[in-house]
Amino acid sequence: MKLIEPILADAAAIAAIRRDIHAHPELCFQEDRTGDVIARALADWGIPVHRGLGKTGVVGIVKNGSSARAVGLRADIDALPMTEHNTFAHASRHPGRMHACGHDGHTAMLLAAARHLAKHRNFDGTVYLIFQPAEEGGGGAREMMRDGLFEKFPMEAVFGAHNWPGMPVGMVGLNPGAMMASSNEFRIVVRGKGSHAALPHLGIDPVPVAAQMVMAFQTIITRNRRPIDPGVISVTMIHAGEATNVVPDSCEIRGTVRTFSVEVLDLIEQRMRDVAQHTCAAFGAGCEFEFTRNYPPTVNHPAETEFVRRVMGEVVGPANVVAFEPTMGAEDFSYFLQAKPGCYFVLGNGDGAHRDGGHGLGPCMLHNPSYDFNDELIPLGATAWVRIAEAWLAAPSDA
Ligand SMILES: [Zn+2]
Ligand SMILES: [Zn+2]
Repeated sequence: MKLIEPILADAAAIAAIRRDIHAHPELCFQEDRTGDVIARALADWGIPVHRGLGKTGVVGIVKNGSSARAVGLRADIDALPMTEHNTFAHASRHPGRMHACGHDGHTAMLLAAARHLAKHRNFDGTVYLIFQPAEEGGGGAREMMRDGLFEKFPMEAVFGAHNWPGMPVGMVGLNPGAMMASSNEFRIVVRGKGSHAALPHLGIDPVPVAAQMVMAFQTIITRNRRPIDPGVISVTMIHAGEATNVVPDSCEIRGTVRTFSVEVLDLIEQRMRDVAQHTCAAFGAGCEFEFTRNYPPTVNHPAETEFVRRVMGEVVGPANVVAFEPTMGAEDFSYFLQAKPGCYFVLGNGDGAHRDGGHGLGPCMLHNPSYDFNDELIPLGATAWVRIAEAWLAAPSDA
């Protein structure tokens, strides 16, 4: 690995900031203390700071030379509503809140890069350091955009990264297309007519209507979706009835849909709506259909992905930059990638052996109560950010 020497020299100090943030996790749009820590560090290093985009977002601005060119680097900063099982010194001080996705580490990697970029300024243009709140369900990326992120800070491209447990440190995973899925929820209410269960002909029973619908939804996956396009429909909740001798008057069906493209999502939503409405109509029942699109699919841009592959190949060696098998999880960096060219990639976080004594049982997976970010990643992640920014601003603008 070709790590940047001054970043390595600063790594222990940045790791201390990471552990302080880990001990004080904050949830979606409540990242006030975290924002203070970030803003204070940036200000100490002479970096102008803009606060308040997406409520608690922080943007650092590092300019050099005369070029109007600009690039954005993004770290998410929020924690999860879960209780940490670790008992080591920097474990969460707050039951019910934990940095179990490593956003404390993402923040630290970008801070380390910020410090280096501000000190050495080996580029011509502007680097925007985007510290984004509320990745875990709040859509902080979308909120920063609504508050004018890309108008206030025009940038040519934007890059994001996530630590990846189970992948060795020093390995990088990426893909020129889909990295993560869109995440969506549906809620359907079948409105029937209640009756005595011994006299069902006097009512409209919503239960067999719901049963037909659940089975028919799977034909959208097997008969309507092109077999080569990934897509999942999972009905996860069916609620009806209160007694064995009463036909209920309604039945509620809920679940999730995941796809890697908006086109497949459009198809699935439209077919589900048709199946739900027409199945209800066939049985004389009423239908309420709600479909909520949460995060869009996270889809990398091919040219920017090739760019990251080349830059990271120089840092970790080309053999250690590998294809990432897309996951059906979701990520709100997807909003940035819909608005700007860019690439989202993963950095191996190791197998969990890095954790201090006092970690709980279980693997070191993301969202696990025994997870901890690997501080070894700080100099690597920071080197990645610096090299990506320097190379982007050095390349011809049509690259
Ligand atoms: Zn997460
Ligand atoms: Zn995460």
